[in-house]
Amino acid sequence: MTGQDPLGGGVPEAAWERAVELISRADEIALACHVSPDGDALGSMLATGFVLRSLGKRVVASFGDRRFAVPRLLGFLPGQDMLSPPQDFPAAPELMITFDSASSDRLGLLGANAAAARELIVVDHHPSCSGFGTLGLISPKAAATAMLAEQLIYRLGGTLDRDIATCLYAGLVTDTGSFRHSSTSPAAHEMAARLVATGLRTDEIARELWDRSPFGYLKVLAAALDRVKLEDGLVWTYVTRVDRAAYGLPYSELEGVIDIVRRADEAEVAVVCKEDDDGAWQVSTRSKGAVDVAAVCAAMGGGGHHRAAGFTSHDGVEETMARFRELLRKV
Ligand code: AMP
Ligand code: MN
Ligand code: MN
Repeated sequence: MTGQDPLGGGVPEAAWERAVELISRADEIALACHVSPDGDALGSMLATGFVLRSLGKRVVASFGDRRFAVPRLLGFLPGQDMLSPPQDFPAAPELMITFDSASSDRLGLLGANAAAARELIVVDHHPSCSGFGTLGLISPKAAATAMLAEQLIYRLGGTLDRDIATCLYAGLVTDTGSFRHSSTSPAAHEMAARLVATGLRTDEIARELWDRSPFGYLKVLAAALDRVKLEDGLVWTYVTRVDRAAYGLPYSELEGVIDIVRRADEAEVAVVCKEDDDGAWQVSTRSKGAVDVAAVCAAMGGGGHHRAAGFTSHDGVEETMARFRELLRKV
């Protein structure tokens, strides 16, 4: 275990102790992460699941999407046998732990299970985290929830093996953008060193996460870029269900579109509106630092981080963007 606290006291010592106590008392532990999980959400949850299983706990792990499926790009993560659909999740768990979810809304179908849980530990790093649950392991200083999950693992007496490290590494590199974002701290690099020392394949993980896609992605990306607009410091585009249907491309394949759109030097803020399979618009936003997109997204009913945030809209794209522009002018 690492001697020092790499999160600089972000989580009170008493909270860690209470978490260890609650976990050691429980026989079954129900784990959940946010809907449409990314590498940080799923990776943190599965890494913790491995350790809880090694401690002899029964582990149920899930996320509350109506169409329950692990995104293709996270299919390489070990421990998927721990996952079950939200319908099989205990209705009122004795002990539930959530990962990377700033509010119970972000748990989707599992929000009701969280509300009924006897004890609910919230492991999260969003500044907007509402602190739901009976115990928070919450630190906005952590570049990824995976950093908090690693500390929890050590405090439970767990050690890193390659599978656990692969899950945590997926979280760390997803949320730091491969150590490019401003959240990248010495502690993030130190954690990476501990993870890589287990022998995990950083090259294979990078390829799985960023360097491969079905062919249809190229065509859908082309359509998105064809209609991209630059308006007074804002660059934005959208991807419809129809765009994806032509190539059988799942919604979860669209995660990287924002990283291309946000390149535009002329724009401070980038937005990609992505229509999901239910016809709702999942909106990804990024800023270069001068604008707090989390504040704009919160006003649109979502949330996130200063430079990376999102929200869901049930209106059309034009209407959604009109509201977004108006709020953007006010922040
Ligand atoms: P994404 O654009 O999906 O990569 O999300 C960027 C950040 O925004 C993540 O850290 C999420 O926590 C947050 N976020 C995305 N979508 C939503 C939403 N519908 N509601 C609240 N927060 C969101
Ligand atoms: Mn996340
Ligand atoms: Mn995260």
